[in-house]
Amino acid sequence: MTDNKTTNGAMNGSCHCGTIRFTVTLVEGLEKPRRCTCSFCRMRGAVVVSAMLPDLTITQGSEALTLYQFNTKKAEHYFCSKCGIYTHHRRRSNPNHFSINVACLEGVSPFDFECVPVLDGVVHHSDRPGGPAYVTAGLLRYEKLPEA
Ligand SMILES: [Zn+2]
Repeated sequence: MTDNKTTNGAMNGSCHCGTIRFTVTLVEGLEKPRRCTCSFCRMRGAVVVSAMLPDLTITQGSEALTLYQFNTKKAEHYFCSKCGIYTHHRRRSNPNHFSINVACLEGVSPFDFECVPVLDGVVHHSDRPGGPAYVTAGLLRYEKLPEA
């Protein structure tokens, strides 16, 4: 996972059908993958990493991006209207951040991560005044089978 970056450290990404293409520079690289237990994320099932808003550039297909919002309508969830794949969302908990679907990043698979923290999104931290920003609900582990 080191040879898939462009010269300025940005990574290339796309949806499944290739209509949406983007470049992104991640805040902490691939060091802090996560999932979330909220009503939407538990269905979507994507592993995500963070990027600052100005560090994501949709280079192609922005007209095909569809916005989905629910509940407080603060988070902005984007997906490709052609293939349905979730690419990124603007976070409710940190509106300065996008979360990026790692599966859309060139050369990256959600199964590259042996252990992914799962954040408690049921009791959102915005609804937990004075509490910690993030509460980890659990860990999701992926174990590769030994090579045959
Ligand atoms: Zn697509």
